Amino acid sequence: MFFHVIVTNECNMQCRYCFGEALEDTGDDFAGFDIDYSLPKRIDYDLALLDKFCKHDPDCVVTFYGGEPLLEVDLIKQIMDRVKAQHFMIQTNGLLLDQLESKYVNRLHTILVSIDGDEDLTDYYRGKGTFTKVISNLKLIRQNGFRGELIARMTVMEQTDILKQVTWLTDNAVFPFCSVHWQLNAGFWKNDFGRRDFAEWSRDNCNPGIRRLAKFWVDNMESDGVVLRLYPLLGIAQSILSGEHHSLLRCGGGWINYAIQTNGYIISCPTMWGMKDYYLGHISTTNPIELSRVLVKEPCTECGSYGLCGGRCLYANITKRWDSNAYNLVCVTVRNLLDAVSEETPRIEKLIKRGRIRVKDFDFIRYNGCEIIP
Ligand code: SF4
Ligand code: SF4
Repeated sequence: MFFHVIVTNECNMQCRYCFGEALEDTGDDFAGFDIDYSLPKRIDYDLALLDKFCKHDPDCVVTFYGGEPLLEVDLIKQIMDRVKAQHFMIQTNGLLLDQLESKYVNRLHTILVSIDGDEDLTDYYRGKGTFTKVISNLKLIRQNGFRGELIARMTVMEQTDILKQVTWLTDNAVFPFCSVHWQLNAGFWKNDFGRRDFAEWSRDNCNPGIRRLAKFWVDNMESDGVVLRLYPLLGIAQSILSGEHHSLLRCGGGWINYAIQTNGYIISCPTMWGMKDYYLGHISTTNPIELSRVLVKEPCTECGSYGLCGGRCLYANITKRWDSNAYNLVCVTVRNLLDAVSEETPRIEKLIKRGRIRVKDFDFIRYNGCEIIP
């Protein structure tokens, strides 16, 4: 099982698609959901409970999450000293990575760091100076011996030229990434669709860009014999190559990947913090192996793409922040991505047959925080 441990709800940044959206979405009653807005700012349960909880599951993977988890460096160190997890991972904005001693950083199996592309774009979304500081920290942790997987985690929306930015992250002179994941800022806020240009952007940039990206990805396999870890492409290709016909939600939310709030209550995914109707138990009294499942419902369960898509997002499926017309445009991007990978699969299979690449090059740790379907 995978657990996002929400170390703190606080963040040291004010990114456009998170803090900025929250400011503009004021006055929303959250569609009748009963929300606990008074969660503690940082973990307020006894860490011995977390240790006991994880001990029930020999394969327990703990991912530090926030807010920004590195605002609570001491708590992270205490958890790593105390809790027996198979792996530790972190999702961070990267600004404080230099604050965690390398003996802890180097024990992390995976670091997902938020970066949206090149300096101009990252600083546009995340604030001036962000890119330089994050890259300097990434260079530092590599120098200090971090050998785990470093995944550039992009949030993409209208200002992102997806082809240009993903390829820039994989091939630049500053800090090239072997692993990139992206997620669309779509369907997470109530009132943003009307003030945005999502329809035009998805039609004119995202969808054709993903087609070209899939081609670039396979061209790269052909020319260099390397399968770049572009997670949305990688995850789908792996399913197609292995003949997997039905995937549950690919992020694992609600069935293998859960989150633990700062008060110790367990929820299906970090985004569902405070949604009392979806509390699945408390770490003091719940066995992780016996957690109940929360699965996506309509429209996903009625959709012809469900088997390969898996449902994109439990939070979006439950809360329906975008109406069906708007969300349908997101599904168009999903189907475009599935088709783009499917259409490149015969070339991939030929390269495998020729020995240029191997099936195992598509392996990855599932539920590591990359949702696969963006
Ligand atoms: S394409 Fe859309 S409706 Fe279909 S399964 Fe995926 S998220 Fe659900
Ligand atoms: S895709 Fe949705 S359900 Fe899955 S982790 Fe992200 S926000 Fe949660």
